Amino acid sequence: MKDPNCIFCKIANGEIPSRTLYEDEKFRVILDLGPATKGHALVLPKEHFADIYEIPADLAAGAFEIGQQMAVRMRERLHTDGANLVQNNGEAAGQTVSHFHLHVIPRYKGDGQHILWKPGKASDQELDAVAETLR
Ligand code: 5GP
Ligand code: ZN
Repeated sequence: MKDPNCIFCKIANGEIPSRTLYEDEKFRVILDLGPATKGHALVLPKEHFADIYEIPADLAAGAFEIGQQMAVRMRERLHTDGANLVQNNGEAAGQTVSHFHLHVIPRYKGDGQHILWKPGKASDQELDAVAETLR
């Protein structure tokens, strides 16, 4: 299943060349063209699913498994100090390409990147209410 207008479909299926770090039947891992840090990679399923709401659970799990392998490889070969595995869904969450992808962002001490959120505040009542909604 491919979307003819989707750039990540074309990259994942080899129609547009990319710096491929890993490939198997279901996934391609490429270097991000606008890297947050050295080695920033994207895990792309070859099949088109827009986001976490559409992708089958086993494929999402597979993407995370490959993300883990890449993070380990980066630690060994790039001597990283950590990694952020980030997966954006929807414009509100910063998704700019509507083809599911998992970012593997290597982190280096003092790299100056900010991939964390600003902690908020919530009352006990608010926490109880949202917990009840989500249970
Ligand atoms: P999002 O914001 O949707 O989570 O992430 C999209 C990512 O794809 C961005 O980090 C952006 O730099 C990267 N990107 C966008 N277009 C291309 C492309 O054509 N090739 C590669 N390798 N990365 C891309
Ligand atoms: Zn696609």
